[in-house]
Amino acid sequence: MLASEDALIRNSYYTASAPAGTAEPSLAGETRADVCVVGGGLAGLSATIELARRGYSVVLLEAERVGWGASGRNGGQAIVGHASDDAIEAQLGAADARRAWDVTVDGLQLLRERIADYKIDCDFVPGYLSVAVNARKASALRRWQESSERAYGYPHWRWIEHGDIGDWIASPRFYAGLHDALSGHLHPLKYCLGLAAAARAAGVRIFEHSRATGIARGAQPLVSTAGGAVRCDFVVLAGNVYLGGLVPALAARIMPVGTYIVATEPLPHGLAGALIRDRAAVCDTNFVLDYFRLSGDGRLLFGGRVSYSTMTPPNLAQSMKARMRKVFPQLAADISIDFAWGGFVDITMNRAPDFGRVEPNIFYLQGFSGHGVALTGMAGRLVAEAIAGQAERFDLYARLRHHAFPGGRMLRTPALVLGMLYYRLRDLL
Ligand SMILES: Cc1cc2nc3c(=O)[nH]c(=O)nc-3n(C[C@H](O)[C@H](O)[C@H](O)COP(=O)(O)OP(=O)(O)OC[C@H]3O[C@@H](n4cnc5c(N)ncnc54)[C@H](O)[C@@H]3O)c2cc1C
Repeated sequence: MLASEDALIRNSYYTASAPAGTAEPSLAGETRADVCVVGGGLAGLSATIELARRGYSVVLLEAERVGWGASGRNGGQAIVGHASDDAIEAQLGAADARRAWDVTVDGLQLLRERIADYKIDCDFVPGYLSVAVNARKASALRRWQESSERAYGYPHWRWIEHGDIGDWIASPRFYAGLHDALSGHLHPLKYCLGLAAAARAAGVRIFEHSRATGIARGAQPLVSTAGGAVRCDFVVLAGNVYLGGLVPALAARIMPVGTYIVATEPLPHGLAGALIRDRAAVCDTNFVLDYFRLSGDGRLLFGGRVSYSTMTPPNLAQSMKARMRKVFPQLAADISIDFAWGGFVDITMNRAPDFGRVEPNIFYLQGFSGHGVALTGMAGRLVAEAIAGQAERFDLYARLRHHAFPGGRMLRTPALVLGMLYYRLRDLL
């Protein structure tokens, strides 16, 4: 648990609006499984489902509750692509970057299939709008769309000219945009709990309040918790920024960056329906971005701000409300902010995902860099393929090189802050 985490999760709209979730026991004593998965977020749960489908016996260890981490708190925007497709292309070349892009397209398909197959009631709405705040940023977005269309052949985009943007979003803030019909949004905690139910039904044994505290490596690793241990053939680490001391070399390669969301009171039906065409998810292209969408019950969920210190910004609800009313000035000044919460994004230095092996039989999935809602599904599938002996797609990602943030946590924070300040200034200027 990171500094101020308690306060961040206490007032979450998702927790208030999702079913309680099945309480699972803590691990007590030693048990045996083919695979031990560490981390009950979207990545770990996806891996368990894919492994169980392939006939493996699976134990999942979760330090807190299933969906407690980023997976149960995020913006819910399921988006095609990676946080940095450029970094992937620079390292892998055009053909393999295209293969990686296709994995993300499969991720959106997989998400839809799981919602349908497991009958997960999670308010999924298709449609995603990427918006630029001025002409210069609109040109950059347009150039990116054209070059990505050429490179990846993605057919789901529609460019929205300056003159038409008002038909898509009732805001004076945006100049032009790009609509993506395949991406969309959902209630992430409901989706996560739905995956946990599917995993349970597939025979996965889930243990909550069972932090993995050590791994004895070898042909049959032993993963220990305070109350027990799991002897297994393979381990999958999906602990995000919370893995910490379990494998310090992995923790050094990701930086926890705080990001925050508020939920308004439910808006009058006419007002909610008039804000964003077809209730698409929206995200601007600024470096410190605003991301927002309507919830199933008509609230505006508005996310943004960042914190590099892991401390929650002061006056969170008020400052987020001010940002929100800059986008939608038609919202009343006294609109009630019913919920304010946040969490930590696992950013890698180059923003590309970081998948690989600590040992031949110990795999890890991390570094989704704010693009995990859809990609975690495929990450789980790829690691299951690799364990089953078909590692081609997993190794596509494992080939990506990553660097530790220099100087450990104390130094990497100021270095990152300086870098981010530079980009923030560029946005402002
Ligand atoms: C506020 C916010 C908004 C976001 N918005 C979006 C968005 O709109 N779209 C998008 O694509 N992505 C978004 N993201 C990112 C996305 O949520 C993540 O990429 C994704 O949820 C990562 O899933 P995960 O399973 O890797 O990690 P998590 O969901 O964090 O799960 C990791 C789990 O591992 C457990 N764990 C850690 N160590 C141990 C251990 N030693 N033993 C046992 N358990 C352990 C933790 O308790 C935790 O439950 C957002 C993130 C945040 C925080």
